[in-house]
Amino acid sequence: MKKAIFLSFIWLFSYGFAPHAFAKKRVHAKHIRTRPRELAAVDDVQRQINALNALMVQKMQQEEDPNATEDDSNIPANGLYESWTNSRINPYHTPFYKLPDSVRIDVSQFVPPVESFITSHFGWRSRFHRMHYGTDLKLNIGDPVRCAFDGKVRITGYEARGYGNYVVVRHDNGLETVYGHLSKILVHENEPLKAGDEIGLGGSTGRSTGPHLHFEVRYLGNAINPEKIFDFADGTPIHDTYVITKTGSFDYEYAHRLSPSSNFSKGLARASHHKKHYRRR
Ligand SMILES: [Zn+2]
Repeated sequence: MKKAIFLSFIWLFSYGFAPHAFAKKRVHAKHIRTRPRELAAVDDVQRQINALNALMVQKMQQEEDPNATEDDSNIPANGLYESWTNSRINPYHTPFYKLPDSVRIDVSQFVPPVESFITSHFGWRSRFHRMHYGTDLKLNIGDPVRCAFDGKVRITGYEARGYGNYVVVRHDNGLETVYGHLSKILVHENEPLKAGDEIGLGGSTGRSTGPHLHFEVRYLGNAINPEKIFDFADGTPIHDTYVITKTGSFDYEYAHRLSPSSNFSKGLARASHHKKHYRRR
């Protein structure tokens, strides 16, 4: 009788404790019945320890989840960019004239992507009738290319007629950087990076006439001449803070828009042609 009460207690306890299949408990209880009482008690304690361990592991995993506990409210990029996509370099629909009047960017942690000299500057290329949105830096195929600031890899891609193998990184300071013509990519999308981490090896893939790094700096998709921010001869930022302004950072937009070959000017010419044509009819 005493044994029966004890066994029913065990049965109730285990059934309430672990919500597994009923059949499993039956097998377990049957198993206990064949053993001495002491062993059954030890078994019970072990079950409680296992349950506690499982709870502790669960709690530790929650604490390790960076999204759950890490305070990242002081990272400017988190409040600035509303979307995260692994596809387009500029998915933001925020032209430069919609930006605030002045934005201060902390560039003090800059690490040069390659320590080398400039082979081609940022700006309008009249020979090709297109903008060159980056600074070209000389390198040899296989040279390490480094991440300019702390951040996270947004895109790793390949563009046969453009960047070749390229990487886009969104940085904690609010800037994004693009690294083009790489022979090899050494990071993967959504990977967190520290300034100076190797992101790839230098190359000449895509639209390139010889081994070099095409390096771009963008803010909400709008390219800024990297030479306004960095001294590539020294491998240092010109100032610890760079202030983005419409006229200072995007002066090329004004010049480009007013040049006869610009899309803006062509658009104006087209509009006036259509107007005349319409009037004649
Ligand atoms: Zn380039």
